[in-house]
Amino acid sequence: MLVDTFGRVATDLRVSLTDRCNLRCAYCMPPEGLDWLPKPDLLTADEIVRLVGIGVERLGIREVRYTGGEPLLRREIVEIVARTSATGAELSLTTNGIGLARLAEPLAEAGLRRVNVSLDTIDRDTFIRLAHRDRLDDVLAGLVAAARAGLTPVKVNAVLMRGINDHEAVPLLRHCLEHGYELRFIEQMPLDAQHGWRREGMITADEILALLKEGFDLAEDDPEARGSAPAERFLVDGGPAVVGVIGSVTRPFCGSCDRVRLTADGQIRNCLFATEESDLRAALRGGASDEELAERWIAAVRGKKAGHGIDDPSFLQPARPMSAIGG
Ligand code: SAM
Ligand code: SF4
Repeated sequence: MLVDTFGRVATDLRVSLTDRCNLRCAYCMPPEGLDWLPKPDLLTADEIVRLVGIGVERLGIREVRYTGGEPLLRREIVEIVARTSATGAELSLTTNGIGLARLAEPLAEAGLRRVNVSLDTIDRDTFIRLAHRDRLDDVLAGLVAAARAGLTPVKVNAVLMRGINDHEAVPLLRHCLEHGYELRFIEQMPLDAQHGWRREGMITADEILALLKEGFDLAEDDPEARGSAPAERFLVDGGPAVVGVIGSVTRPFCGSCDRVRLTADGQIRNCLFATEESDLRAALRGGASDEELAERWIAAVRGKKAGHGIDDPSFLQPARPMSAIGG
């Protein structure tokens, strides 16, 4: 079992398949992009399958979410899903949706259960301004394909940025309600590669709710149903449709966090904001047995801190940006 000194058990593994991406979302990456990891540094498909197998069979991992960078840019994604679905873990994917129109069906057939698609606006000009690419139609087509392939409930993740897409909360929710997608707004976190995050500039969960209330009636859903899920859920116009708000910064949920992350270059991160990592790739390539890898992984999770500490004056943004950690 992966348990930390505060008694939290990690059962939800996030696996980053690449740090590359075909968008440049302003809250994540600079417009000019980043230097990608060299290919030999990336875990191979065989290495990923082996580590996921150890996580599930020896360490109690129950859910595996593939992420990135943009995971659909990883050529072997269907193969990796098919091989790891044999472990019995529940498999899901976080993607910007580009490529999903083509891949949703094969991924569902390979054993993928659900997708989260990131969509911050349904206005083309705003999309280009925010993501620096003209790909809104591809993302919308990807969402439709995901629903058609049964990767449901299709969840949509949105980040609002002041002066860019903060006028989009209501139209975005309307679009998601019309299509049966479950929308969740995520507070912007200090994980952008360009270190441009400022607390005063961030749109808080309170503000997100105030913006949504301009168009909808919201009532808090049963908090018991939340469990370890990060999103606070609100019934929209009396339900049954819901909208989620993930107040990662102002309403932290570190006390019930059950996640652990494996980066595309084989590092275990016990928290999004961890400043230390544990190198499974070196051990793996150095000939470690499954048992030794499991021991190393257990030790990495044991050292997890109580919380992310963003409000602490000594807070340091991790060197790795979100695109190289995986959301
Ligand atoms: N490229 C895929 C995507 O966009 O869904 C997967 C990787 S992306 C890093 C995973 C999630 O992190 C996305 O939902 C994205 O909106 C979110 N994200 C990225 N940077 C963020 C930030 N600074 N604050 C909050 N969420 C962020
Ligand atoms: Fe790419 Fe996802 Fe980051 Fe946007 S949030 S730049 S889609 S990795």
